[in-house]
Amino acid sequence: MSAVRQPSIAIIGAGIGGLVLAHALRARGFAPDLYEQSPELPEIGAAVALAANATRELERLRLLDDVRLSSTEPTELIHRDGRSGVRISSHRVRLGQNYEKRYGAPYFGIHRADLQKALRAGLAHDDVDITLDTVRKREPNAGRGLDKAHVCERCRA
Ligand SMILES: Cc1cc2nc3c(=O)[nH]c(=O)nc-3n(C[C@H](O)[C@H](O)[C@H](O)COP(=O)(O)OP(=O)(O)OC[C@H]3O[C@@H](n4cnc5c(N)ncnc54)[C@H](O)[C@@H]3O)c2cc1C
Repeated sequence: MSAVRQPSIAIIGAGIGGLVLAHALRARGFAPDLYEQSPELPEIGAAVALAANATRELERLRLLDDVRLSSTEPTELIHRDGRSGVRISSHRVRLGQNYEKRYGAPYFGIHRADLQKALRAGLAHDDVDITLDTVRKREPNAGRGLDKAHVCERCRA
C-alpha cells in the first residue's frame, strides 16, 4: 500500500483571507504554513460587516460562536441619502430575526482586529504554523510553483 504524500502548502499573509483559508484547509486534513510580514498581527482596520455568505462559512468551519462573542447584530440596516440624511430604505436584521430566517445565517458587525484575533485563536492549538516577521516572495524566474518560493527576512518584493 502506498502512502499518500501531504502537499506542502504555504499561505502568504495572515490577514482575514489567509487565516480563513488556513481553517478551511485544516478542516480538509491539510497542515498549511502561514507567513506574515508584520512582526505581530496588528490591531488595525475598521468595522467590517459579515453578511450571511460569510457567517455561513464561519459556521461550517465551527468558528461562528467565537466570532459572535466580539460581534454586534444590528437591529436593522438603514440606507440614507448621503447628503440630506433622509432615510431611503431599511431592512430588518435582528428585529424579528428577519435576516437569519431569510438567509439562514446571521448578519454581524465586528472590528477587523477582533475577527482576526478570533480566527487566529482557533488555530492556536493546531498543527498550523504561523511565522511572523517574514516576507515570502517568489523568485523572479522560479515558475509558478509555491514550492519554488523563497523566504527572506525583512525583504520587500
Ligand atoms: C475601511 C474598510 C472597510 C471594509 N469593510 C468590509 C466589510 O464591511 N465587509 C467585508 O466583507 N469586507 C470589508 N472590507 C474588506 C476586507 O477588510 C478585506 O477584503 C479583507 O480584509 C481582505 O483580506 P486579505 O486577507 O485578503 O487581506 P489583508 O487583511 O490585507 O491581509 C493581507 C496580509 O498579508 C500580509 N502580506 C502581504 N504581502 C505579504 C508577503 N509578501 N509576505 C508575507 N505577508 C504578506 C499583510 O501584512 C497582511 O497582514 C473593508 C476594507 C476596508 C479597508
